[in-house]
Amino acid sequence: MNWITKKLSYLSEKIKIVIKKRPTKEEIETSEWTSCCKGPILKKELENNFWVCPSCNKHHRINCRQRFDTFFGKNNYEILETPTPMDDPLQWKDSRTYKDRLKDARKKTGQSCAIMVVRGKINNINITACASDFAFIGGSLGAAEGEAILYAIQHAIENQNPFVNFTSGGGARMFENLIALSQMTRTTLAINELKKNNLPYIVVMCDPTAGGITASYAMLGDLHLSEPDSIVAFAGARVIQATVKEELPEGFQKSEYVQKTGFIDLIVERKDLRDKICSLLSILLKKNSAINSISNETSEDSGTFTKVAS
Ligand SMILES: [Zn+2]
Repeated sequence: MNWITKKLSYLSEKIKIVIKKRPTKEEIETSEWTSCCKGPILKKELENNFWVCPSCNKHHRINCRQRFDTFFGKNNYEILETPTPMDDPLQWKDSRTYKDRLKDARKKTGQSCAIMVVRGKINNINITACASDFAFIGGSLGAAEGEAILYAIQHAIENQNPFVNFTSGGGARMFENLIALSQMTRTTLAINELKKNNLPYIVVMCDPTAGGITASYAMLGDLHLSEPDSIVAFAGARVIQATVKEELPEGFQKSEYVQKTGFIDLIVERKDLRDKICSLLSILLKKNSAINSISNETSEDSGTFTKVAS
């Protein structure tokens, strides 16, 4: 091997190393940078713009704390501790154990389950709210998440607060099987109690809201809001396409498409969510108190309120 061949071989090894060296998931998460349409962008720059790209308006996925920081303002809300049912009731194991998955998810998100419940205030309206972290096993619904939603609804009823639910997640958690599916019924029954108390329930469907979550508490709001370009679906597009054997329309299962088909009332940019929800709640609560103040309420009044609140 002459010196030219040696040099070429050395360079080719170096190039291989550079190409192969991609940042790990952990490195991406801890980095100050992320990427969007124009390549790398500082996370700080995104954060200052509600985690929305200033160039393409992409609404980046955010965790629960980031959600409440943008909605209530930093340190303007109180995180409520929710009940913690027994982990891994079915002792599930496939390629990994469910216990290991839970351990990783908790380490990654700093939460005990996918849903965080808080109480906060916007413009003198006390609100009970919850949000889901997609990074916690895809934001899926298990017993702990069901308990968190029940706890949030109970808190809303006890304090006579409206309930705002920022939903996201892929559906019922398969590692909990029937126990996960039963959370759909439990949360639906709890929302009925909220409605019996005439308390407004606003859902903000965040990217992505799908499966059993769409089939239960995400679709039972008095008003359904969503952020631009969010996936709102039940079954995945590929499954539907394979079943109906037809080409699906462009933008199928995006919030803009779902709004046209009547499942979403309003698409609101993240920067406007706080003001929009505040205005909607003011209207709903005013209607509510107006009805309550009429001792002999007429059926016409009730009809008007029901129409507004459903
Ligand atoms: Zn962008």
